[in-house]
Amino acid sequence: MQQFEGACQCGQLRYRVRGTVAALFACHCRDCQRQSASAFGMALWLRDAELTLLQGSTACWARHTPGGRVTDCRFCPQCGSRLFHQNRDTPQFLSIKPGSLDDTSWLRPAAHIWTQSAQPWLPLPAEVPGWPGNPDDFAELMAAWQAAPHDCRG
Ligand SMILES: [Zn+2]
Ligand SMILES: [Zn+2]
Repeated sequence: MQQFEGACQCGQLRYRVRGTVAALFACHCRDCQRQSASAFGMALWLRDAELTLLQGSTACWARHTPGGRVTDCRFCPQCGSRLFHQNRDTPQFLSIKPGSLDDTSWLRPAAHIWTQSAQPWLPLPAEVPGWPGNPDDFAELMAAWQAAPHDCRG
């Protein structure tokens, strides 16, 4: 069980979350590029997360994926920072946008997915596993995290 704190860009929303890190990866799909309005998205998956809003509130947008799933996407209604994703069919996992954490120094993605749409100027680390799209089984991402050397502070 680890504990992390973070905030949105404008600072009206602060959160604390406790849970067990299950995976940390970068996603280069077009959706993550568009959502972040940047080159890729990062996801920190916590198992059995307990989320506490210390200050402020979130708004929610329900994303319907091409595969028929629904992801609740929570963000700061004032500055628009995306903070949390949760798939309704896997409620045991909370996905955090880890750039919002107070301490980002330990963030080392253990895998890269959707490398087929990665920005061509971005060198991907050879020692980290990659998938051209989604892995067949997301357990592979969790195994990559377990296999990676990491110092997960919190
Ligand atoms: Zn904000
Ligand atoms: Zn993505």
